[in-house]
Amino acid sequence: MVFVCCYCLLFGRKLSGIVWADFDNNVVSNNVVSAEREEFLMVEERSHRDFMKEALLEAEIAAGEGEVPVGALVVRGGEVIARDHNRRERIGDPTAHAELLVLRRAAAAVGDWRLNECTLYVTLEPCPMCAGAIVLARIDLVVFGASDPRAGAAGSRYNILQDGNLNHRVEVIGGVLESECENLLRQFWRTHAEER
Ligand SMILES: [Zn+2]
Repeated sequence: MVFVCCYCLLFGRKLSGIVWADFDNNVVSNNVVSAEREEFLMVEERSHRDFMKEALLEAEIAAGEGEVPVGALVVRGGEVIARDHNRRERIGDPTAHAELLVLRRAAAAVGDWRLNECTLYVTLEPCPMCAGAIVLARIDLVVFGASDPRAGAAGSRYNILQDGNLNHRVEVIGGVLESECENLLRQFWRTHAEER
């Protein structure tokens, strides 16, 4: 959790409503950050934002298809290896969330269900189902945009990604392009409120 803690400390990441136990524990011991480390983290920050912008493009495609606008990417070695968006309505499948679909695509792309050394970007905090799948896929890091206080499983309501009882723990960075991700969802719900 050292990386996440320094990162959050430097960039004042919004953590409202999210439980970041390791974050709190480690902040004090990581107050001193070298210039090299700071530069590295700034590059990381830009990179997370760039990938989240691509995930937002997927979310916009979902909105255009009448789906709740959530987009996701899997990145390995700085390259996007899979991208997808929520397709629940189109496929008629309650499990067709962006994260689940993108995990399947990524596994097919690398020819292995183990997605170690991969980062999953998603515009909305994963639900319990997707968080469980992310743990099973052994994803290293999840970067999400908007929090979901109602059902988020990356720290808001549950913390499945970092549950010590499971056999894999996932690093988490929340709040990247948070307002852009939230606005897209709000806009969608305003338009579709009467239909649902
Ligand atoms: Zn989900």
